[in-house]
Amino acid sequence: MIRAYKFLLRPTARQTAALGEMLRDHCSLYNGALQERRDAYRHTSKTSVRYGDQSAQLKEIRAFDPERQGRWSFSSQQATLRRLDKAFQAFFRRVKAGQTPGYPRFKGVGHFDTVTFPRDGDGCRWDSTPHDPQTRVRLQGVGHIRVHRHRPVEGRVRTISVKREGSRWYVVLDCDNVPAEELPSTGATVGIDMGVTHFLTTSDGEHVANPRFLQAMADELAEAQRHLAAFPRRTRQRTKRHRAAARKVARLHGKIRRQRADFHHKTARMLVADHDVIAHERLNTVGMTKSPAPKPDPEQTGSFLPNGAAAKAGLSRGILDAGWAQFLGILANKAESAGRLVVPVDARNTSRTCPECGHVAKENRATQAKFQCTACGFAANADHVGATNVLDRAGLALCVAA
Ligand SMILES: [Zn+2]
Repeated sequence: MIRAYKFLLRPTARQTAALGEMLRDHCSLYNGALQERRDAYRHTSKTSVRYGDQSAQLKEIRAFDPERQGRWSFSSQQATLRRLDKAFQAFFRRVKAGQTPGYPRFKGVGHFDTVTFPRDGDGCRWDSTPHDPQTRVRLQGVGHIRVHRHRPVEGRVRTISVKREGSRWYVVLDCDNVPAEELPSTGATVGIDMGVTHFLTTSDGEHVANPRFLQAMADELAEAQRHLAAFPRRTRQRTKRHRAAARKVARLHGKIRRQRADFHHKTARMLVADHDVIAHERLNTVGMTKSPAPKPDPEQTGSFLPNGAAAKAGLSRGILDAGWAQFLGILANKAESAGRLVVPVDARNTSRTCPECGHVAKENRATQAKFQCTACGFAANADHVGATNVLDRAGLALCVAA
């Protein structure tokens, strides 16, 4: 099995400064490589620069600038160039598909947050002081950094990434050959309906509430963002108060992210512990959170009819806050590790189909919360009906597969 571990780093003041410089130099490498591709693309010959061409220049760049670029791991710099290459491949793929993607952008120093080392032992070393009870990770150009290793690492460490989140630093290990920890069979199956009123509802009729702290934190964040917006956007030197306002926004973002991940882990652990098979709706988060198309008013050119954008904004917001995609990822990982089965099913009409007689109608859903079949009169909580239908479909899908 593959698994990722994320640990807080405890760098010294000097190491913190070195980490910051490492990000800054990788950022300028990224932007430099992007500039080269742009210039080549705009040139009349329309030359395209490839990853191989840029990687071949690295040796020269390092020799030319030993004080800065020369300090860092060669392989990590290649990884940064590959990251740019990926951005371009995605761009061209979308152009080919007839979409209108944005051209890859330059990254501001404050927005370039990750450096990847593709192989443990190459410019980096996990557990670099094995004789010491304090775990450390060694990074070329930075040194041996203390790690808050809050859980044991199993399997083999493949890649190591260093990440800045606000004022904190993290190390992320991607491991393979991680042994699975199978749980004993329970004989139980469950379907889940992911909603806005509740975070999720199970086919057993249990609701898991949306975490309240997110709303409270969202208000606090909005306030902090308003405060930050009062400062000039572009300035050479931020004032002390400006920097403090920016730090506060970053700190709140980090806190929300950590609390939400914690909530997702707890909820997923509970579902995996109690059920052998877990069915959920297949998500299309991109479509679900896209704002509705503007509806031009035929009577009056240039003006628009209400398109439900305001109501949908609230809904989109709820969906984004709930972070279902992240939750389902965590659920899939935990299930795989525990030897459980997760079945995504087609979500079409799960909230409109009567589980008693099979009648499908929009009118079956009397209100957001209430389901009442217009054919047979069956009535129940709407989310519970959704979850029951999801479970039924998973049963059907499994029968067909078998
Ligand atoms: Zn019915």
